[in-house]
Amino acid sequence: MKILVQSSGIDVVPGIINELKAHQPDWQYFAWPTDEQCDYVVGWKPPAELFTRQPHLKAVFNYGAGVDAVLAMGAVPAGMPIVRLEDAGMAQQMAEYAIYGVIYHQRRMRTYHAQQRDKHWQQHEDRGNVQRPTVGVMGLGEMGGTVATRLANFGYTVRGWSRTKHSLDGIETLAGHDALPAFLSGCDVLFTVLPLTATTQGVINAAALASLPRGAFIINGGRGGLIVDADLVAALESGHIAGAMLDVFHEEPLPKDHAYWSHPNVIVTPHIAATTPIKDGCAQVVAKIAALERGEVVSGIVDPKMGY
Ligand code: NAP
Repeated sequence: MKILVQSSGIDVVPGIINELKAHQPDWQYFAWPTDEQCDYVVGWKPPAELFTRQPHLKAVFNYGAGVDAVLAMGAVPAGMPIVRLEDAGMAQQMAEYAIYGVIYHQRRMRTYHAQQRDKHWQQHEDRGNVQRPTVGVMGLGEMGGTVATRLANFGYTVRGWSRTKHSLDGIETLAGHDALPAFLSGCDVLFTVLPLTATTQGVINAAALASLPRGAFIINGGRGGLIVDADLVAALESGHIAGAMLDVFHEEPLPKDHAYWSHPNVIVTPHIAATTPIKDGCAQVVAKIAALERGEVVSGIVDPKMGY
């Protein structure tokens, strides 16, 4: 078996090859670019040239959970399966990110950080003493399902929203676009971890923000395109939205002149909510290639029409 490894951006190729080898030493591994004809590609945003030069590939393994970038490139030949990473150690990280954001807001950490700078000692009422925040989770797949469950186990009232109806212990779930305003109206903190698709693009717009209770806090761990930035900035300015913790942006790195960088009520993190753990990611890829070779059906195959 010949495996091609490719990456756009950070050069993770040698590390991935070493890790794949550790899991399956009997296969051969090649770094892109090469004309050595391979069976599978493990990559991130593979260019069109790769598919022209590699006409015998059986499937593309997307080295990450999100497939919006690879689908937008339109380089993968029609009919070739795209297999994405499922959890692979990312869901726990995403839950940590969400819990940090919820507590940051609830326990007024922004205020205490500012007070420390001024050596000012003043106690404020914990928002949770008045009413513990209800957290809404948008997207109940590999990431969102784990986030919702962990938040509920941590004692928060959690509600979830997805395209199709899910059933999660102790969590009120709603599904579909028509249920969105009702879902949002009960969320003191909104955590979004939807994939970016034609139907989720701009889902957090002025109307959605208006459906949230005054003083709500937003955490985005999904994709920047889920949010209409101008609408969020306007809602922050009006005070309708108390603050936001944002990990993903329309353009990354976030341009230096973007309003989010200097907004006092916004925390910007550089797309680190859940990074791909190399061991778990490579173990999953090797196991799925082996299963495909045995003629088995694997999970995590992307539906290009749905966009996730
Ligand atoms: P997933 O398992 O495919 O789950 C996607 C969820 O979104 C599903 O619950 C799905 O509903 C829901 N959904 C899709 N379209 C919808 C729509 N139009 N309306 C309502 N719900 C919709 O994906 P995942 O592994 O959880 O990953 C989700 C996204 O997180 C990725 O696509 C990626 O963009 C992002 N991500 C970010 C980071 C980071 O570091 N910031 C790391 C990993 C992933 P159904 O269950 O009904 O299908």
